[in-house]
Amino acid sequence: MIPADDIAGHETADPTALLAWYDRHRRGLPWRALPGETADPYRVWLSEIMLQQTTVQTVKGYFERFLARFPTVEALAGAPVEAVMQAWAGLGYYSRARNLHACAQAVVERHGGRFPANETALLALPGIGAYTAGAVAAIAFDKPAVAVDGNVERVLSRLMALEEPLPRAKPAIRALALALMPKARPGDFAQALMDLGATICTPKKPACVLCPWSPPCRARREGTAETFPRKEAKKTGNLRMGAAFVAVRADDCILLRDRPPRGLLGGMAEVPGSDWSAAFDAGQALAAAPLNTRWRRLPGSVRHVFTHFPLELTVYRAELPARTPAPEGSRWRARAELKDEALPTVMRKVLAHAAIE
Ligand code: SF4
Repeated sequence: MIPADDIAGHETADPTALLAWYDRHRRGLPWRALPGETADPYRVWLSEIMLQQTTVQTVKGYFERFLARFPTVEALAGAPVEAVMQAWAGLGYYSRARNLHACAQAVVERHGGRFPANETALLALPGIGAYTAGAVAAIAFDKPAVAVDGNVERVLSRLMALEEPLPRAKPAIRALALALMPKARPGDFAQALMDLGATICTPKKPACVLCPWSPPCRARREGTAETFPRKEAKKTGNLRMGAAFVAVRADDCILLRDRPPRGLLGGMAEVPGSDWSAAFDAGQALAAAPLNTRWRRLPGSVRHVFTHFPLELTVYRAELPARTPAPEGSRWRARAELKDEALPTVMRKVLAHAAIE
């Protein structure tokens, strides 16, 4: 932990300097209220959920399309979950889309369609953790709350040259964020910290000469900025392998099925395939094929990295007559309609590998 004296003695990292910098250099983002405007809690919440594990650049397009389709929390709550999953497809981490839908329904049912303004009530909603609760309370309602994500962790660990590694350092960093938070404009302070981390205090080559906190920053003084935050050695999962089968019917339909509703990529569409495991035996791959036909093994493989493990898929392709029925639990889908399917990125890669998309 950071000693309490250290935090107290850190008043030189002046929030006013950060806010003045923010007033000049704030990023214009589609979900962000302009100066003088009131933030819309629905837009703030939606953007914060989308931005978890996804870049601002990717989210921008999704956000606009999502909002056009579900302009209010009521519209989102009233939509079928399949429509939400489909609009989310490609953003990854699909449990977020399920929780997004469940959260919209809870806001409508429990709060009459208005997001609650305090962190405790926000935390009680599906899919809202400490970060999102803090972000929505601060940004949408200007409540005294902090939102500590990876960007903020980087800025504050550098500011303090914090030797304690992540994730153990999280409580200390949160305490520091709260200690630095000004009484006035906590929402702008939260966004200023995010912007500083995203545009100035970047992982590589931070632009310290442009930083409003350059004078008090310990890592900058010591010339060690890029080495922070310290991190505990990461355990990456073992490589998993499997086979994917792309069946193409003569009427240009592709065989698809839905994954089980819970678990990895829950409820998303996929081409049939084997289980994914470290012990996958390529010699037995055809035992998992959905149809008894002539399968052609395509050269190369498809690689995809999930949060906890990398995956390598061998892809097989077969051509079938137009009247071939779909095996139980699967369905034929016209190639032209694949864009409307909730296909995760790994499956889009498989289809591309098989020259379908
Ligand atoms: S001075 Fe450099 S390292 Fe320190 S907070 Fe600013 S950008 Fe980050």
